[in-house]
Amino acid sequence: MIDLRSDTVTQPTDEMRRVMAQAPVGDDVFGEDPSVNALQEYVADLLGKEAALFVPSGVMGNQIALAVHCHPGEEVIVEAASHIITYETAAPAVIARVQLVGIPSAFGQMSLEAIEQAIRPPEYYFPRTRLICLENTHNRHGGTVLPVAYIYEVAALARRCGLALHCDGARLWNACVATGISPRQYTEPFDTVMVSFSKGLGAPVGSALVGSREFIASARKWRKLLGGGMRQAGILAAAALYALQHHWERLHEDHEHARLFAQILAESALVEIEPQRVQTNIVIFRYPAPVPFAAFAEACRREGVLLSQGLPGWARAVFHLHVDRKQAMEAAHRVLRAVRSLL
Ligand SMILES: *Cc1c(COP(=O)(O)O)cnc(C)c1O
Repeated sequence: MIDLRSDTVTQPTDEMRRVMAQAPVGDDVFGEDPSVNALQEYVADLLGKEAALFVPSGVMGNQIALAVHCHPGEEVIVEAASHIITYETAAPAVIARVQLVGIPSAFGQMSLEAIEQAIRPPEYYFPRTRLICLENTHNRHGGTVLPVAYIYEVAALARRCGLALHCDGARLWNACVATGISPRQYTEPFDTVMVSFSKGLGAPVGSALVGSREFIASARKWRKLLGGGMRQAGILAAAALYALQHHWERLHEDHEHARLFAQILAESALVEIEPQRVQTNIVIFRYPAPVPFAAFAEACRREGVLLSQGLPGWARAVFHLHVDRKQAMEAAHRVLRAVRSLL
């Protein structure tokens, strides 16, 4: 079975497990876990921010960011198909108690005009706009990369309007590898950034939030409030640090495999694919068979490929550590066989 549902399905490698087993640990709620502290220092430096906080998941990282940046009842501008609006169980309504404004876009890049129009004038009867969130790479739009120049334009707008700017960078590493732009260049315009170790980097658990020292101090309190104060978490942090140091370089292989897979699909008239969307390790494509996604996914499973759903009517294939070049090509041929079986 070739599992392309997500880059979260990876297993820790033998070497990663060795590093985890040997990691020095302590009670991180007391700030005494050397492996967690090492990871946090490394990530803060890598991303050019004052401080970092290891969190159990990307969702918790994003939700803590919303809670620290906003007061209840304030408004947050997000892209309409963003992870925050789609896959985080409406947590912003429950935790930060904010209202999300979703702005549709073609590739995850909301227009500056649309963002500006969504920022509320300061009438007492309007919600107060507080924060803009960008997602890089953009998951549902197919792993698309945000240009640095665009991010700076949004940051200038945010600053001009007194808003904070947060990046959902669960796959920021993929954007860096695809463009050659350094993590610091990507994070500089943001007040806060969330990055994940459990996606393409292949660590079993964990994300990090970076920002100012003051922001991270509040974030630590929120993490505890949400039940995310983990004790000997160094076992996990050691895997995350190992993944950053050893699995980042190989992400370009996932991007090549995604392109190969997409090329084979694009050569067939059986599926619809937009090659300009294939920028990193995610491929989304339309399957023309008049069946619901579950039936299409089942046909693919019968052929030995697991997929997930992208935008409505789109299937999603994600390339990772455990899919090699041969499997990537084989997966494309299997998907085409599955489409034929439904026509
Ligand atoms: C996966 C993902 C998250 C959430 O990460 P979890 O660790 O699964 O909670 C957030 N944002 C984006 C863009 C993601 O792809």
